Amino acid sequence: MIRYLFLFMIGACFGSFAECMASRYASFDTYFGRSRCDHCGHKLAFRELVPVFSFLFSKGRCAYCAGKIPASCLLSELFAGMGLCMIAEKCGRGTEFFAYAAFFGVSMFLALCDRKTMTVPAAGLVLCVLAGILRRAKTGIDAQEIFLDVMAGAGWIILCLAESRIFHRESAGIGDGFYLAAAGLALSGRIAAGGLIAGSFIGITECLVSGRRKIPFLPSLAEGLFLVWIWKG
Ligand SMILES: [Zn+2]
Repeated sequence: MIRYLFLFMIGACFGSFAECMASRYASFDTYFGRSRCDHCGHKLAFRELVPVFSFLFSKGRCAYCAGKIPASCLLSELFAGMGLCMIAEKCGRGTEFFAYAAFFGVSMFLALCDRKTMTVPAAGLVLCVLAGILRRAKTGIDAQEIFLDVMAGAGWIILCLAESRIFHRESAGIGDGFYLAAAGLALSGRIAAGGLIAGSFIGITECLVSGRRKIPFLPSLAEGLFLVWIWKG
């Protein structure tokens, strides 16, 4: 129980960190420096940085200017905390645990960036690939296996390029293709394909429920991958 409480708090810290980094990416701010209130710029003290609890105790408002802290901050912390417990439950500890935690942690950052700007930073995609290489460190790297695992992502990228060529417009979705290829490397080709199908259902459901015609796809894809990986992988 204490182990899971500890893991939950570590995960929640990463969720808070991912949210902060995604906000900085969206506002073209530097990734470095201490966390500040978005409204008054007040630098946050340690007691204002405790995940989940700080939000609840301050009732979601800045202690200095009473500006509203978005509820998405609390949700990111809760999801990341629960997510890390589920990853630990599935694969214990060791290199695999770190590789999967890194992959899904960076996925969360990319999903938040995509939600805020409809684009993702290339550096995040590179980190996903590194998580994939770390996961394979023990089993060794087999070229044929890797080719099959990244096929779904590569196919997606080729379709995007063909679409932009035929319809003469800027190719959307190439970032999603690279992410899918990285997911194949970090999880496996079968999970990437299953996650793509599950993610499509999640995305379509979100369109129907929200009534919006255009939504960022990477968040749905990341959710689909996590569900399929937890259930099957
Ligand atoms: Zn403030």
